[in-house]
Amino acid sequence: MYPAVKRNILLTPGPTTTTDSVKWAQVVPDICPREAEFGAVMEHISTELTRLVAEPEYYQTILFGGSGTAAVEAMISSVPGSEAVVIVNNGAYGKRMCEIAAVYGIDYLEFKSPFDDAIDIAELERYIQASGREISHLAVVHHETTTGLLNKVKEIGKLCKRYHIDMLVDAMSSFAAIPMDMKEMNISFLASSSNKNLQGMPGVSFVIAKKSKLEKLKDRKPRNYYLNLYAQYQYFVEHAQMRFTPPVQTLYALRQAIEELKQESISKRYDRYTTSWKTLISGLKRLGLTHIVPEEHHSRIITSIHEPHTDFDFQSMHDYFYSKGMMIYPGKLEGLKTFRIANIGDITAKDMELFLELLEEYISRL
Ligand SMILES: *Cc1c(COP(=O)(O)O)cnc(C)c1O
Repeated sequence: MYPAVKRNILLTPGPTTTTDSVKWAQVVPDICPREAEFGAVMEHISTELTRLVAEPEYYQTILFGGSGTAAVEAMISSVPGSEAVVIVNNGAYGKRMCEIAAVYGIDYLEFKSPFDDAIDIAELERYIQASGREISHLAVVHHETTTGLLNKVKEIGKLCKRYHIDMLVDAMSSFAAIPMDMKEMNISFLASSSNKNLQGMPGVSFVIAKKSKLEKLKDRKPRNYYLNLYAQYQYFVEHAQMRFTPPVQTLYALRQAIEELKQESISKRYDRYTTSWKTLISGLKRLGLTHIVPEEHHSRIITSIHEPHTDFDFQSMHDYFYSKGMMIYPGKLEGLKTFRIANIGDITAKDMELFLELLEEYISRL
């Protein structure tokens, strides 16, 4: 066994509080990642990640060294051709996909939707019809971490099917917590990372793609080098290697984190998160605090909370919690005073109760 590591409670949307076994999985003998032994570790991780959402026979996980945005950028920059892409923007991460598309000169149409309410699917359909454009792809965030809004990806997938549009999904903060099935939801490409609901260390990001759609990228002129999705895919299939130096220790931790996820199961993990979230929501109500997204559209993963109307300063509240070993997160909405509390990672409702006790004490002192 290994010595315990000081436990901090991260109420942030990733990196999260991890188990000691995941932390210690990083301490391994030095290894050249080009050795077959390490290639086998990556192949195992890749297949296991695919298995969480799809059949490995038809879908493939493509690993990159990088933060989650690397996978989103790989997807947005590598998949669309010359036809138009619709990007749904109802928060900071939808906006980020627009910004990535703009940088690469990709022909995109921005569908704006309220940040605090469900996407109107009929309106999205009218938008597609009225565009008068050849639309090949649609990109959407599954769970908008900006607010905690859970987008109806399955319904958007149905709409895409009717219009022969391939769907790209940023599932960064939903993957491994909210059960999903890429085939059933009609997702062709999905991006996520190692350090959110997977409860691993930061440094690995990945795209899971339908193989038949990946193969279509073969003759596409690359728009970039490191983040080229097809090149990374082809190299991995041929050599069981990433093209460039992988984050070795993060991958060992990820292997352990996947093992622990399988032991818990995605649905049980979501139940645990949901219990923590319900504890949070009822505590907020008791303290007279309000949050942004209606509960029926809520992810139950992160909650965007209005600042108390009293003399409130996020930084000083942050510092108070930090001194108690708890980390909280600022808001990300322009023009609205909010802060965010996530309930993912190796934490339980007990940690949330402790947070609420401290919050009550902090507010009462204002
Ligand atoms: C966290 C997150 C990202 C990626 O963030 P990184 O800081 O690059 O890891 C992208 N999209 C969503 C929805 C996220 O929650």
